[in-house]
Amino acid sequence: MLEDEDLLLALLNSTPVVAGSPTDELAGASGVEFAARYGGTGSPAELEHLRRMRECLQDAVRGCNDALSRLSTVLGDGALVPRVTPQGLRWEVRAPEDERLAFRVALAWSRVIQEFPGRLRPCANNECNLFLIDRSRPGTAKWCSMAVCGNRMKARTHAGRQRAAAERP
Ligand SMILES: [Zn+2]
Repeated sequence: MLEDEDLLLALLNSTPVVAGSPTDELAGASGVEFAARYGGTGSPAELEHLRRMRECLQDAVRGCNDALSRLSTVLGDGALVPRVTPQGLRWEVRAPEDERLAFRVALAWSRVIQEFPGRLRPCANNECNLFLIDRSRPGTAKWCSMAVCGNRMKARTHAGRQRAAAERP
């Protein structure tokens, strides 16, 4: 797993559709917990940056045209600075504290799309708001989870086929 890949997926997947309507896991206490889980403070400003970053990256993964220009605005003046360690250089994020977590998400996104081109994608279920990183060898994974969307969509296709067969004269 690449650095912060779990953070990236967790943020992209923090607007799940529950009982037919989109929800926001960055809202309220769950937002503070979310930030804390990844080393953030959970301050309102930090959550706001995360929310803006999430919107840009969700749109970018969905192929929305202006997402990348919005992303550079959200990134602001954040930078990576070298720290010399006995193991070599370590790159640390230099950005205002409230923006650091969002910046790390953008870095993770960049790593994933460079290491696994085309493998970060939205779930193929239109009613699902989640994303996946396809690590399968053939690169044909379509669903955020086989257990949820995969089975549901397969059942639907199967039901559709049976119906079509039944309607055939
Ligand atoms: Zn799904």
